[in-house]
Parts: sequence; structure tokens; C-alpha cells
Amino acid sequence: MDIRLKAENAATMALAGRVSLVSGSTSGIGLGIARALARAGSAVVLNGLGAAAEIAQTRRQMEEEFGVQVSYSAADMTSHEAIAEMIAATIAGHGRLDVLVNNAGIQHVAPLDQFPVDKWDAILAINLSSAFHTTRLALPAMRQNNFGRIVNIASAHGLVASPFKAAYVAAKHGIVGLTKVTALETAEESITCNAICPGYVYTPLVEAQIDGQARAHGISREQVIHDVLLAQQPNKRFATVEELGALTVFLAGDAAASITGIALPVDGGWTAH
Ligand code: NAD
Repeated sequence: MDIRLKAENAATMALAGRVSLVSGSTSGIGLGIARALARAGSAVVLNGLGAAAEIAQTRRQMEEEFGVQVSYSAADMTSHEAIAEMIAATIAGHGRLDVLVNNAGIQHVAPLDQFPVDKWDAILAINLSSAFHTTRLALPAMRQNNFGRIVNIASAHGLVASPFKAAYVAAKHGIVGLTKVTALETAEESITCNAICPGYVYTPLVEAQIDGQARAHGISREQVIHDVLLAQQPNKRFATVEELGALTVFLAGDAAASITGIALPVDGGWTAH
């Protein structure tokens, strides 16, 4: 199918005419969500770190595959000035901002009394404060259109804790709180805000850990997956980026108009413990 036909196709999709911005969408979950939003007909603004040539190729591929406009912002999520420029450029370039997915995130693991202060600051900035900035700056445009969908990618660690993840757990609990406040302040304005709380999701980052862990523990890949990585996840299966993409498209759509302020676990039963 040529690009024009795909564009015509996209016009009949659930999110046709919408504009979505996904922070941290150059890899992993964010890219999976961006692809799902584009497949549903939304124009997409990608953001995140990575090689310029690879990102340009991703943009081209998505435009060809889904027939929607795909742009990119290199904004660093630790900088509120860069975030302000990204939101302003999105609205200037696309004329609106309908769906905001706060997904950018990093991790660092260390005991609390040895936790590097710079890692604490970076995790709080990227995993929590960036969502405050994108949200406060996106709301006026959403209010103008009387429509908005904000999806915060939290974690099972937004609901429960694990040792050695002080900054990550604090930031993810924080984003669940921010989600509730945003939902309450926008409840009468056709704007919703929800958090998705994944357990382990299969991404290149997770795949990269499996062989190393197998060597380190002297066990098989299957044992690493079952007994190490998925130790807390009762269904013993990774969620996929496609599942998270489909859920985000649902939350972004009209059928989810009454769903707001929730923190939805996608964790195979982890937080049912
Ligand atoms: P990933 O490392 O594959 O992707 C992270 C994205 O954030 C990348 O695009 C990266 O470039 C971007 N990013 C990092 N620092 C940035 C910065 N300063 N400015 C802009 N972008 C930046 O990780 P992932 O596994 O896809 O994780 C995505 C989100 O999902 C994170 O918030 C993470 O906490 C959450 N999450 C992941 C899992 C999992 O199992 N993978 C589970 C629960 C929650």
C-alpha cells in the first residue's frame, strides 16, 4: 500500500486527527506505545536519546508503515526549559496536543546509605519531575480543545517497594500521586489522567540482562527468567510492549472517557501478593 492510501486509511482509525507525544520513545516501551498510537491513526512526536540516524530511520519507517506524521524532539527530560520548548514546538508544529504519554525513565540500584546523590537527582528529574512539567505545559492546549488524555507509565514499583531501588520507588509512587491530582483537577474538562503500572516488560534492556545473569548465577536462561527476573511476577511471563501499546490506545480513546485517576497494574499478579 502506498503512503497516500495509508494516510487515507489512518483517517478512519480510532485516533485519527489526534496528536500524541511520548517521552522516552526512542526504545523499549515508549517506542512500542508510539507505534501503537500511530497504528491507531495519531500523529506522533517521538522523544528520547539515541543516534540521530537511527531515530530518523524510525520516523521514516513509522510514517511509511502507518501513514501518519511522525516528528522528533531531542529534549532532555532533566531540563524544564527543554521540555517547555518541546511542548511549544509540538503545538506550533501540529496545531494541538491530545495525548501525552509520560514514559521516559531510568533506573539505578544501590543500598539507601550508598545511593549516589546524582543518581537520586537524575531519577527524580526524569521519572517524576519531567511529567509534572509536560503536564502543566500541555494542559492549556488540552483545555482549549476540551479533550486530553494523559498516560503516565509508572511501575509495579509505584504501588509496592523493593530494596535497593529508593529513587525509582519514590519517583514511581510520586507519579501515581501526580496522576491522581491531575485527574481531580481536570475531571470536568474531558481530560483524563491515568497511570499504567507494569511489572517486568520484555524490552531489549531486559533481554540484554538474561545471558549475563545466567553466566553470573551459573543457571539457564529459563531459570533466570523464572526464578530471578520474574521472581515477584506470579504469571511468570513478561508483559510485552505491544500489550502496553494497546492499553495506551484504549486509555487514549473515547471508550475510556470515564476512566481517570487510576493506577492500573499490568504485572501478572505481582501486586496481588
Ligand atoms: P528504555 O531504557 O528502553 O527506554 C527509556 C527511554 O527513555 C529511552 O527512549 C531513553 O532514550 C529515554 N530517556 C532516558 N533518559 C532520558 C532523558 N534524560 N531525556 C529524554 N529521554 C530519556 O526503558 P523501558 O524499559 O522502555 O522503560 C520505559 C518506562 O517504563 C520507564 O519509565 C520505566 O521505569 C517503565 N517501566 C519499565 C519496565 C520494564 O520492565 N522494562 C517495568 C515497569 C516500568
